[in-house]
Amino acid sequence: MSDTIFGKIISGEIPAPKIFEDEHCIVINDISPQAPVHVLVIPKRPIKMLTDAESSDQSLLGHLLLVARQQAKELGIAEGCRFIVNNGEAGGQTVFHLHIHVLGGQTLTEQGL
Ligand code: AMP
Repeated sequence: MSDTIFGKIISGEIPAPKIFEDEHCIVINDISPQAPVHVLVIPKRPIKMLTDAESSDQSLLGHLLLVARQQAKELGIAEGCRFIVNNGEAGGQTVFHLHIHVLGGQTLTEQGL
């Protein structure tokens, strides 16, 4: 598991309420929400960032998007929301364990997060 905060949440070393969990990923609330709804879909496999993913991650990456879609539906924001993957330091990434931000619950006009 990665040595990041997300790796520690996945391993249980750091407790965090999980909105959803299956064999491939977890979903948690972002600790510093940038919108009324802001959750993170995090694969259990510790891929550092999207550009480090491999061809063999194809089904995992598809799964993460389907979980993000399902969360948007269940959280009532599917009609208008934003899915974000920050990649690398210059891309705004701060936790180096791949994750998809799912944001909504307000009109999202500002650029990025
Ligand atoms: P990024 O900047 O794309 O790497 O996003 C990292 C996100 O993780 C930020 O939105 C943080 O607010 C969030 N975050 C950091 N630590 C925690 C934590 N312990 N639990 C939930 N979210 C966290």
